[in-house]
Amino acid sequence: MNWQEPARCLVALGEGVLAGATGRYAKRLVELQGLYADEAAFAAMLPGRGETVVYEVTEFRPSGRSGDMIFGITRMVPGQVGREFFMTRGHIHARADRPEVYYGQKGHGLMLMESPEGEIRTVEIAPQTICYVPPFWIHRSVNVGAEDLVMMFSYPADAGQDYEIIARSGGMRVRIVADGSGRWTQVDNRSYRRRSADEIGRLAGLAS
Ligand code: ZN
Repeated sequence: MNWQEPARCLVALGEGVLAGATGRYAKRLVELQGLYADEAAFAAMLPGRGETVVYEVTEFRPSGRSGDMIFGITRMVPGQVGREFFMTRGHIHARADRPEVYYGQKGHGLMLMESPEGEIRTVEIAPQTICYVPPFWIHRSVNVGAEDLVMMFSYPADAGQDYEIIARSGGMRVRIVADGSGRWTQVDNRSYRRRSADEIGRLAGLAS
């Protein structure tokens, strides 16, 4: 029997990457069109900062098999589009009953989570903070600090990501914005559309 080999990966905190990763992807600002409320501010940023990498993920993916585990490092630069802080696209797991853990390494961020019915939870993440994202919660991370937000994450290898659930509802129910005195606050997303009873029922059925 050829058992899988153990691995050792190092967190390069300065660069915000995982050394020894098996994969990497990055999202540039230009790829995040439609995510932010202030479309004029977004358009004004594109000529100078369109190619800026807003966030990148370096991950160690031993396999995609059920029961295996993926982990990695996510790094997001500080910044805002208008008043709204930089954030990831966000997702629910394609296998929605799969959870995730985030572990703060550097910077100041938060995990924005939304239940299928549209309930909101926020968990602030600083170094040495562990955030548990339960199954069935849509989640996105937000950099509300002034430096890179670096977090370790881990989730079941068969979880997958469904980004469309957020697009279908016109974004998440709230937006995380600067309050004008150096802190963050949440405001209602005016484009938000509630999920249908069918969709909520389908997820609830998987949960019971
Ligand atoms: Zn996830």
